[in-house]
Amino acid sequence: MTIIKIEDLVFEYRRDDESPPVKAIGGVNIDIEEGSFTAVIGRNGSGKSTLAKNINALLLPSGGAVYVDGFRTSDEGALWEVRRRAGMVFQNPDNQIVSAIIEDDVAFGPENIGVESDEIRRRVTDALRSVDMYEERKKSPHMLSGGQKQRVAIAGVIAMRPKCIIFDEPTAMLDPGGRREVMDILLRLHRDGITIVLITHFMDEAVKADRIVIMDEGEVVLDGSPAEIFSRPDRIRALHLDVPLAVDLCDRLRRRGYDVPPGIVGIEEMVAYLCR
Ligand code: ADP
Ligand code: MG
Repeated sequence: MTIIKIEDLVFEYRRDDESPPVKAIGGVNIDIEEGSFTAVIGRNGSGKSTLAKNINALLLPSGGAVYVDGFRTSDEGALWEVRRRAGMVFQNPDNQIVSAIIEDDVAFGPENIGVESDEIRRRVTDALRSVDMYEERKKSPHMLSGGQKQRVAIAGVIAMRPKCIIFDEPTAMLDPGGRREVMDILLRLHRDGITIVLITHFMDEAVKADRIVIMDEGEVVLDGSPAEIFSRPDRIRALHLDVPLAVDLCDRLRRRGYDVPPGIVGIEEMVAYLCR
């Protein structure tokens, strides 16, 4: 079943009436299956964040339409239906944390949509447990590492019980340890059945997805499984993107005449092949 439907989406930023609008999305079509994990990659300015904000109705289409679980984002009255189904996690956790105590922070979203207090407590406990931050619940978010802050921000989204979570470069400001923590949580949420859209510039994160969508200049230029996407590394490099380490290694081995099988995109698969 399709949970997010992006139909001929066009988005233009308008600063004022004098200056011409900036077209950030120029006709994008993407259907996202419920429970899937999609990575969106593309160089800076290719329209990824604009796309993400159109999914949870922070921005509304200039043309075309976006549907979340059947609700059209631009329909009057659909805003909260869309937002409670599609949560969003941003790059900087500091901008997402609003309270001085972790558990209050996680309760903020459900309180705002009028969830009753027993249910809020249950949701806060569940959400903090699922990001392994329950023990820290009485602390101030300011005492936490970047990775822990991002996990609290994710707990705040989980407490809304969304069907989809859109992550916009959630690990870009984190150290390697923090990146791993956040990716572990994201993969766990995917296993629990939540639909994941991950915008990232880390290729080792993108290869963990079921599907990769590549954006360039406001359009989708490639869309396929990680193995399909990286089957032609030259095409990815021409889009000014890196290829995953394993893909680069296979590519180099092939050039030296080794008969490496296709479809290796992750480090684990590479190790399995080399040690076979
Ligand atoms: P990405 O997330 O892939 O880096 P963005 O969606 O942020 O790309 O930006 C897409 C395009 O829209 C870029 O050309 C960018 O300069 C422009 N843009 C983004 N935000 C604004 C804004 N608030 N006002 C005007 N133009 C913007
Ligand atoms: Mg961006």
